[in-house]
Amino acid sequence: MKPLTEQQIRAAFVNCTKGEAKRLSVPRDLAERPWDDLDYLGWRDPQAPDRAYLVAELDGRPTALALRASAGAVGQARRSMCSMCLTTHSGGVALMVAPKAGRAGLQGNSVGAYLCADLACSLYVRGLRDAGIGARLHETISLREKTDRTVANLAAFVAKVTG
Ligand SMILES: [Zn+2]
Repeated sequence: MKPLTEQQIRAAFVNCTKGEAKRLSVPRDLAERPWDDLDYLGWRDPQAPDRAYLVAELDGRPTALALRASAGAVGQARRSMCSMCLTTHSGGVALMVAPKAGRAGLQGNSVGAYLCADLACSLYVRGLRDAGIGARLHETISLREKTDRTVANLAAFVAKVTG
């Protein structure tokens, strides 16, 4: 994806207030992020580890989501699969809940998805980060097809949040 600035990221949030988007924690090392290898940028708030964020370029526009990692995290020993990139982790998948955009969100409606807890789907898909033996399915499809699938899964999740 194309590199984004802090202002672009803050302006891209669709499911929190403008005030929250202004205050929330955006990584300070944006210039050093491996943008060429990212389908989306995801991060946890170092001050509040249950808060997670992601930003993706969908239909040519950056779209960012504020997420809460569920306290009832998937058990450490249990293996579970990220719904975006289909990587299987032992304890490295978290249920992330996004308040819905607009009125529905204000009324408490939210959408959840199981995601790589470190939000590094792009790196697992590319083999740049290792989730251990058996973490990735052996597939004959190309890397491009895998990243397209990750983006499609992410776009479907974003559509549920904004729809
Ligand atoms: Zn993932």
